[in-house]
Amino acid sequence: MPYATQPIASHFIDGNYVEDSAGAPIPVIHPASGAQIAIVHSATPALIERALAAATRAQRDWAVLRGVERGRVLRRAADLIRARNHDLSVLETMDTGKPLSETLVADATSAADALEYFGGLAATLSGEHIQLGTDFAYTRREALGVCVGIGAWNYPTQIAAWKGAPALACGNAMIFKPSENTPLCALKLAEILTEAGAPPGIYNVLQGMGQVGAALIADPRVAKVSLTGSVPTGRRVYAAAAAQMKHVTMELGGKSPLVIFDDADLDSAVSGAILANFYSTGQVCSNGTRVFVQNGIKAAFLARLTERLGDAVMGDPLDPATTIGPMVSDRQRGIVMGYIAKGIAEGARLVTGGTIPDRPGYFIAPTVFADVTDTMTIEREEIFGPVMAVLDFDTEAEALSRANATEFGLSAGVFTRDIARAHRMVAGFQAGSCFINAYNLTPVELPFGGSKQSGIGRENAQAAINHYSQLKSVYVGMGPFHAPY
Ligand code: NDP
Repeated sequence: MPYATQPIASHFIDGNYVEDSAGAPIPVIHPASGAQIAIVHSATPALIERALAAATRAQRDWAVLRGVERGRVLRRAADLIRARNHDLSVLETMDTGKPLSETLVADATSAADALEYFGGLAATLSGEHIQLGTDFAYTRREALGVCVGIGAWNYPTQIAAWKGAPALACGNAMIFKPSENTPLCALKLAEILTEAGAPPGIYNVLQGMGQVGAALIADPRVAKVSLTGSVPTGRRVYAAAAAQMKHVTMELGGKSPLVIFDDADLDSAVSGAILANFYSTGQVCSNGTRVFVQNGIKAAFLARLTERLGDAVMGDPLDPATTIGPMVSDRQRGIVMGYIAKGIAEGARLVTGGTIPDRPGYFIAPTVFADVTDTMTIEREEIFGPVMAVLDFDTEAEALSRANATEFGLSAGVFTRDIARAHRMVAGFQAGSCFINAYNLTPVELPFGGSKQSGIGRENAQAAINHYSQLKSVYVGMGPFHAPY
């Protein structure tokens, strides 16, 4: 039985679905049809208070459990998610418009990976012992307290779990606010965690616009904020958190370079460029949207790319054959079409796409611009849609310096058969996540995050533990303690 798209209630607080229809209504739209599939309500101040009180209370008891006990809950939740992957993926597709061919392998499954990974790590968290002559010291790795997670709309389940799993593993409680565009799947995660044994109040979900997130960040009971969103929102959230010296993780936007050398395997490089631009209809923060192609391979690259894009299947995202879905919203499609118009106006050569297909929903044909230069708007700004900008280059040094000439620093990739050059390039890239002869793979075992304006902190891997826990140093005197007078 597939999940109903209308949730039982808008919020999940203290182990239960909760409604307060006094909150502003938020219609939930299926992007492939424009049809309303649910309605949720923004959290009222009373519900925000309820969630904060529940999380604060629950966190104290959760933090003193053994790590192995916390981990067991997370691993049980991972198993439940895997068993329900199909239904969760359908719900994610209804909410985001992403093709089922993607959501089946990249959303709930990624959440399950995070829960499994951090569930396993929970029992291993520890401090260290430091011998100081006959005295000694030790460190305790402690939870931060109540953490707030704020998500974007492109990977709602994944984001909810990438923040929740390490937070809970370390003994924190979480209040998660999904993007108002995609409110459905975080509720399922909360429900499943509860079924798996998470105590009431440990993982809460509040719906709403930015103000709900802002209200949570401003509350002194909140110890940490982890945001996945755009750079301008990141600056606002970081500043608000700084006012009370809160911990932050900022996973922000990008305009990442993908550098393809003449000696690259052509089909692998084209695959890299496709996955770096059109997966999730281009709505991926780490996308390699500035594709630098060395002049010797440029004509062959563009020809093969155009040919392969002819095999893309745009259509109903619930059809397993579909590989290109719609944009998340009419608004986002408008933004992307604005960038396409700018690309044409500023003199980039439209190789393919650039059009809105004649069908319902918020579709845009996958778009490739060639002859893009370093000053064009489509080369400078994050578009967050299916728009690839192809730039030419001659030398390695030129490619590296132009690749780094951006305020962003999330990801970067290189395709080449020259192994030494590949490692020189990644050593030179100013980016948090780099790829050699691959792109956009984000296994939970590998830290993920940005440099420069693309953020601070890391998600995933053992690195995330440092961002959801703090060390307390304890000095132990073993003999008489002396003062000078
Ligand atoms: P936004 O920055 O618009 O919003 C992100 C979240 O922050 C939303 O839930 C939003 O709520 C909330 N928010 C907005 N203003 C505030 C505020 N003042 N205080 C607290 N919360 C606030 O991003 P989008 O949802 O449009 O997502 C796209 C962006 O996310 C792109 O830039 C993309 O690159 C980035 N991203 C980064 C990733 C990474 O891991 N580095 C991964 C995925 C996306 P509301 O929507 O209700 O306004």
